[in-house]
Amino acid sequence: MIYFKTEEEIELIRESSLLVGKTLAEVARVIGPGIKTIALDELAETFIRDNGSVPGFKGYNGFPFTLCISVNEQVVHGFPGERLLEEGDIVSVDCGVLKNGFYGDSAYTFPVGEVKAETLDLMKRTKEALYLGIESAADGKRVGDIGYTIQHYVEEYGYGVVRDLVGHGVGRFLHEKPEIPNYGKRGTGAKLQVGMVLAIEPMINLGVKNVVQESDGWTIRTADSKPSAHYEHTVAVRHGKAEILSSFRYIEEELVKRGIELI
Ligand code: MG
Ligand code: MG
Repeated sequence: MIYFKTEEEIELIRESSLLVGKTLAEVARVIGPGIKTIALDELAETFIRDNGSVPGFKGYNGFPFTLCISVNEQVVHGFPGERLLEEGDIVSVDCGVLKNGFYGDSAYTFPVGEVKAETLDLMKRTKEALYLGIESAADGKRVGDIGYTIQHYVEEYGYGVVRDLVGHGVGRFLHEKPEIPNYGKRGTGAKLQVGMVLAIEPMINLGVKNVVQESDGWTIRTADSKPSAHYEHTVAVRHGKAEILSSFRYIEEELVKRGIELI
């Protein structure tokens, strides 16, 4: 079933979602060549707990970390570890927070140093697809309208839309109904209504849409080992268009301070 949220509950989800954005901004302050991905995870966990909250992913279905850190051909659910980030990598960092009984969920793909132009384009268009999808998440539309918009936009560039993983409702549970695929047909699927809170999260591949799971049982990577990008916002369905509850503002302020060009 779909859980509809009151305005008070939406405010609590906003609080959790903004804390996710601030946590990702902590990552943005330090991410770069030579840093271990586990160091990013540790600083995120410390920051979340210092803010009186709980990492939303740690322990979820046995996931052992605060962040999902997925590098290059890794799509989502990557494990932080001893890997040193290198010049030219792209790093998708997904974070969830549980505060006051409600989850927030957001993800951002970071460039590490100089990144190939075709990969930067992939990131830019994936982020654009996210915002286009959000514009489609208005009261009275349907789930398929979101997926259609995202798919239609990115496939023009020859990218692959991941099918095996999808967005979702979010609230008292990290993953609620309805599922929000990043592909679909207009006018199909569950009707969107005010009170629904959704995590919209395009996962877009430079090459083929197919993905495989790595031997750790979690990490998903592209079948052709080409890079993948992932951006995610938690949004509330409203009349006209959805309201974004999470924010990339904190992240992007840090990147700008460091002289990292925004895509
Ligand atoms: Mg997420
Ligand atoms: Mg999500």
